[in-house]
Amino acid sequence: MLDICTVPCRVGYMDNLSYILVDRDTGISAVVDPSETAPIIAKCAEMNLKPDYIFNTHHHFDHTDGNLELKKLYGSRIIACQADAERIPGFDLGVVPGKTFSLGNSVADIIDVSAHTQNHILWYFKADKALFTGDTLFNLCIGGLFEGSVEQMFDALSKIKALPDDVLFYPGHEYTLQAVPMAEHFVRDDAALKQYVQNARAQIARGFPVSPVPLGLEKKCNPYLLPDSPEQFARLF
Ligand SMILES: [Zn+2]
Repeated sequence: MLDICTVPCRVGYMDNLSYILVDRDTGISAVVDPSETAPIIAKCAEMNLKPDYIFNTHHHFDHTDGNLELKKLYGSRIIACQADAERIPGFDLGVVPGKTFSLGNSVADIIDVSAHTQNHILWYFKADKALFTGDTLFNLCIGGLFEGSVEQMFDALSKIKALPDDVLFYPGHEYTLQAVPMAEHFVRDDAALKQYVQNARAQIARGFPVSPVPLGLEKKCNPYLLPDSPEQFARLF
């Protein structure tokens, strides 16, 4: 079993979301995409843990800026896609899409979603129904195409759509409210979207991120998950 703690970072300007994961059986822990260090160090102190690992979804600075400081402070080992070794600060160990990585007894499938960047990976803890999507899937929207094509993003999102509806996804940013107008323009399941947006506004008003949301709901409300063909998908750009 995996315990997941969300740590908002760069709040109010980039609104990153980092996560602290603890494998309950062994106490082995990891930080996903340490965007900045202060809030993560504070949360680790509160939880009385020293993260054994840092997991990166991709190389962008707002997902890796905390790597070196946390590594120095805790001795954490930095894990990312093997093919991106040279772009990941403090890289220690590579994972390969199609293979798994074990955080104690919690096992993550590594899924390639090259599009936002090349060698962007998803960390999918199948048994725990938890998916860390970095800058590929956000609530009601997706990440920009910095290094990949529209076709690659369609393929990447198709992999996410193939996962079960009850999987909860944990994105790399809290961008929900900015995405509402476009969702309202394209999404036909009005009732589901209205409920989604109402919940999102309530969460944000309470000072919490909107995530995690189940993929089943996201598949109904995120305009980028609706198209079934690359041609339909391309019309969104
Ligand atoms: Zn990014």
